[in-house]
Amino acid sequence: MCNPDSFRNSWLVELGSGKYDVIVVGGGPGGLSAAVYLSGKGLKVKVFEKKKLLGKPVRCGEYFPVKDEMVKLLPRAKCIDIIDAPEESIDSRCKSIRLVSPRGHEFEFPFAAYILDRHVFESHLGEVAKSNGADIEVGVQAHYFPEDDGGWVGPSREEADHGEIIIAADGYPSETAERAGLPEREYGGPYSVATNIEYLMTDLGVEQDVAELYMDPRYSPGGYGWIIPKGHGRANVGIGIREPYVRRDWQIRDLLTGFIEKNKVAAPRLKGGQKTLLIADSLPVDGPLKRTYSDRVMAVGDAAGMVMPTNGGGIQTAMITGHLAGEAAVRFFEDKTPLSSYEDAWKDQIGLVMDNSKKMRQVSDRFMGHGFVFDLMLRVMGTKKISDVIMCQIPSGMGHFMNALA
Ligand SMILES: Cc1cc2nc3c(=O)[nH]c(=O)nc-3n(C[C@H](O)[C@H](O)[C@H](O)COP(=O)(O)OP(=O)(O)OC[C@H]3O[C@@H](n4cnc5c(N)ncnc54)[C@H](O)[C@@H]3O)c2cc1C
Repeated sequence: MCNPDSFRNSWLVELGSGKYDVIVVGGGPGGLSAAVYLSGKGLKVKVFEKKKLLGKPVRCGEYFPVKDEMVKLLPRAKCIDIIDAPEESIDSRCKSIRLVSPRGHEFEFPFAAYILDRHVFESHLGEVAKSNGADIEVGVQAHYFPEDDGGWVGPSREEADHGEIIIAADGYPSETAERAGLPEREYGGPYSVATNIEYLMTDLGVEQDVAELYMDPRYSPGGYGWIIPKGHGRANVGIGIREPYVRRDWQIRDLLTGFIEKNKVAAPRLKGGQKTLLIADSLPVDGPLKRTYSDRVMAVGDAAGMVMPTNGGGIQTAMITGHLAGEAAVRFFEDKTPLSSYEDAWKDQIGLVMDNSKKMRQVSDRFMGHGFVFDLMLRVMGTKKISDVIMCQIPSGMGHFMNALA
């Protein structure tokens, strides 16, 4: 079993002037999955991560669908076997999702997922990459200084290492992608980015094997609230919101408190719980960037907008796109195949699902601000169609409706 806290010092390597085949900016699930693949193929790889410890502090609900569910969700993905978590990184297991409508109607369907400890999970990925020979440097905020032959990455130009290929895995918004000339700034529309805020709560009596999603325009305008059980009476409890739906005088922290204390269904379930760690972060929910590669750079995970727009899940798509970027880099070194092969691969394997998911998010955008109408729509749809939408599949018989409204 790995001991994540013991890695930190042993990963420190000398700063600057190293030569690498690939440099990865960002040691989240996307960047580390790329590093695992590339180092496994014998390439010289370095990862820069600005946090002092991989995956900590956590900024995530840590909900991680099991591989069998991902096969159904992303049926064309060829590297689905990488979607796995070592036993020690699994805090708890959920067997179903329960969606609660604005007026408190509940829709539950089976769906198996692990709830991770992301610090342990990402430390495990880092350990695998390191054992393959990758250098992983934590506690360094790195910047990309482009050159025609790849470029330099480091805390400053003077202390930078050289990479022939650079992988932008630094989350959203990605400075690396922007410096590479990718259209990161186009991703700024108010409907495109969610702000998420979450407490880790303890001393709870919530069911430990059901993840709950709350559609509640009062306390999670433009998004949803969640209770994701983490075992031993703990849960990640949070909300995601989007700016156009938020009235000016509302503060996001007050909205989360409102959700915890006033949502008619959630409040009684959370009563008596203690709020501990508070985290917040933004998330791209408008689908992939229009262009995810340049001559020498590929953007993966959140840096490339690879989050499923209808459910906000991004761990798995980060891992898959990180892996696909790794494969494209290997092709580049084998026979100079252009990095466009990365974009071709993700479009082929997960592109349709991402497109459909965005379409369905755009349709639900039309109803989200109106609690009564949204509630009615959910009741008309029923559990099966709701589960399809959350899982990014266009429900049968609703294709024309979705296309017309998207
Ligand atoms: C509150 C919240 C809850 C969420 N819940 C879920 C969930 O339950 N399930 C799910 O699947 N998804 C969830 N997501 C989304 C998920 O967390 C992301 O989609 C996923 O982490 C993307 O992985 P990534 O590797 O692309 O980016 P990240 O995990 O963001 O990793 C990027 C890394 O790059 C580092 N970095 C950034 N800039 C630099 C730099 N200049 N130099 C060095 N390092 C840098 C960061 O420190 C970070 O570690 C949630 C997101 C939020 C905000």
